[in-house]
Amino acid sequence: MTEKLYYIDSHMREFTARVTGCTETKNGFAVTLDRTAFFPEGGGQPADTGTVGEARVLDVHEKDGRILHSVDRPLTVGESYPCALDWEQRLRRMQNHSGEHIVSGLIYREHGFDNVGFHMGADCMTIDYSGELSWKELMRIEDLANEAVRADLPLHIWYPEGEELARLFYRSKLDLTENVRIVEIPGIDRCACCAPHVDRTGEVGLVKILTAERHRGGVRITAVCGMDAVEEARRRQESVTVISNLLSVKRDQVVPAVERQLELQARQKERLARLGLELARLRAESMEPTEGNLAVFDSVLDEPALRELVNLLMEKCAVAAAFSGSDAEGWRYIIGSRRVDLRAAARSLNAGIGGRGGGSPEMIQGRASADAETIRAFFRSWKG
Ligand SMILES: [Zn+2]
Repeated sequence: MTEKLYYIDSHMREFTARVTGCTETKNGFAVTLDRTAFFPEGGGQPADTGTVGEARVLDVHEKDGRILHSVDRPLTVGESYPCALDWEQRLRRMQNHSGEHIVSGLIYREHGFDNVGFHMGADCMTIDYSGELSWKELMRIEDLANEAVRADLPLHIWYPEGEELARLFYRSKLDLTENVRIVEIPGIDRCACCAPHVDRTGEVGLVKILTAERHRGGVRITAVCGMDAVEEARRRQESVTVISNLLSVKRDQVVPAVERQLELQARQKERLARLGLELARLRAESMEPTEGNLAVFDSVLDEPALRELVNLLMEKCAVAAAFSGSDAEGWRYIIGSRRVDLRAAARSLNAGIGGRGGGSPEMIQGRASADAETIRAFFRSWKG
């Protein structure tokens, strides 16, 4: 059995330990120590990393009471080494995890909903609850959570047994009967959990719920606490500053300013569509009727305008074609005719212009890979 220092002092970041075993594995070495402050993954909290002597600790797990440290180089059995955790990472995880207990405890106390899923990701935590909560209700929970942080409550962690355990109410996903580690935040939460936590709620610093969405009859939220919450706030503030500079408005005016931009964009889109149709009509009018084919190459008209152009030209010639694009990017085509069955003729057309596409007897559309000159030459003499 490895002595679990992380349960004696969750803030132990450096310690000395003796190597009791070292075996080669597929991707390095598995080392056991007589005592360790490296927390193996558990309770939704990932494993700690750090160093044992010169060796990097890459992962930690527990097997039959022994803690196995995956390290990148061999260590001498029987020798003692100075060990160090990647402390900031561990502290951030404890801030988030203890914050999660505060939020989950409050949601249980205020609404009676259970935490039914918990994932601690690199950017934020994802937590699922068994019932639906509105954004307003969640913001009230967030207020209460930050009140609990400001109250700087001491966490009480213990292992109740026998009668006491049987009588005690606590939140738990599992039906546990022995070695139950209870993490209590007075007046807020009592929960079975195997992970290291902060000593006092004040260390959590800040609790921020970021998003909420309906999920399996309940709600899925994302949240951040502590230094992660401060960094998240900083990133968002920087985004708003960039947007306010781009739009030349004050930071508290970015929402109406973006709304105005979107409205303007919608109006301009509509105006462009009208202009496109008008231009298509003018181009069609300017072309002389012919017994042969007519082709237009264009780079500004959108699809509805090109379609309108082809519809109008169909009255003036055998086969009417509109090509939009460029030699470099290829051409999209719309081709129409009242005299030639285009569906039947599509194969010979596509072979002539390096294209693919099809449609109805009256109108086909697709893409061509040949250049404008080749397409023009082919199309002039094409009979369908
Ligand atoms: Zn927990």
